[in-house]
Amino acid sequence: MPTNAAQVEELRWKKISVLDDGFVCLVDVMGDDQAVVQAARVSYGEGTKKVSDDRGLIRYLMRHRHSTPFEMAEIKLLCRVPMDTWRQWIRHRTANVNEYSTRYSLAIDATQRTPPDQWRTQAANNRQGSGDLLSPEVGAELTASELALQDSARKLYERRIELGVAREQARKDLPLSTYTEAYWKVDIHNLLHFLALRMDSHAQLEIREYATAIGEKIVKPLFPYVWEAFEDYRLGAMFLTRLDVELISRLTAKLSANGRVAATEDDFLEVQDPTWKDLTRSRERDECRQKLVRLGLLPPT
Ligand SMILES: Cc1cc2nc3c(=O)[nH]c(=O)nc-3n(C[C@H](O)[C@H](O)[C@H](O)COP(=O)(O)OP(=O)(O)OC[C@H]3O[C@@H](n4cnc5c(N)ncnc54)[C@H](O)[C@@H]3O)c2cc1C
Repeated sequence: MPTNAAQVEELRWKKISVLDDGFVCLVDVMGDDQAVVQAARVSYGEGTKKVSDDRGLIRYLMRHRHSTPFEMAEIKLLCRVPMDTWRQWIRHRTANVNEYSTRYSLAIDATQRTPPDQWRTQAANNRQGSGDLLSPEVGAELTASELALQDSARKLYERRIELGVAREQARKDLPLSTYTEAYWKVDIHNLLHFLALRMDSHAQLEIREYATAIGEKIVKPLFPYVWEAFEDYRLGAMFLTRLDVELISRLTAKLSANGRVAATEDDFLEVQDPTWKDLTRSRERDECRQKLVRLGLLPPT
């Protein structure tokens, strides 16, 4: 199995741009695909070598969620990220973090700015997410007022510093769009958990862009077998609950009894889980419907 030494040298300290002024870059890495395999062979013994090659072993471990071998490799990043996105990122407790101190140093003089054509509406069907884009005309007004607010907040901050206010107090009215920087070190198991949550379409677009950059531009070249298995068994996979499995089995039985191949929404509602039947809205039923659409068992809604 090839090591990742050449990729590490190519990536180290190379800033990968994210958003308008952010970046992620690799500072250090411990281990490669081989480190995962080596750890697994210690726990499973020499026997594993005979029955599976390295790639196959990594795929087996990922499929069966044997996580500890993936904890044997670690990655350290430097990231520059707006504070609102950092607030979501920092919730992942299994990393080690050192953040730029705005008590000790002047706050970074950069804010994330939204161009006129990138303002998003509130999603109609999801209280947490975004919907379509607002018109660029409305966006132009929003971008202009954002600039004015950010400039005025920065001037106020600098004036406070000039007048002798402590940095720890002067910062309190800086907007959440202000960039911060941090070192972030995490093992590959917990990094993949972060990526699975934050590359997902339910995650906010801004953090999704960071997660995608980390995954595609750093983890993929450094851990090619791990990344391939992660794409196959996590990112591109689908989780079926007991309720989903039983519904699919009722649906396919109904179709074959009627000599049909394509199901309709009425078929779906008829075979839905009994606990959903009386609910006008059910998130679980909606999720199940989407899985069936993905499986080609229901037409897209
Ligand atoms: C789309 C999305 C929406 C979200 N919305 C909200 C929200 O509205 N409000 C909100 O507060 N948060 C929200 N979060 C944050 C979310 O609830 C988690 O806090 C965050 O994703 C970190 O996940 P984690 O705890 O699994 O990760 P980590 O902290 O990295 O932990 C990894 C795993 O380690 C284990 N672990 C770590 N620490 C402990 C511990 N102390 N005790 C037991 N087990 C532990 C758990 O198994 C955990 O899954 C959201 C996250 C996402 C992705």
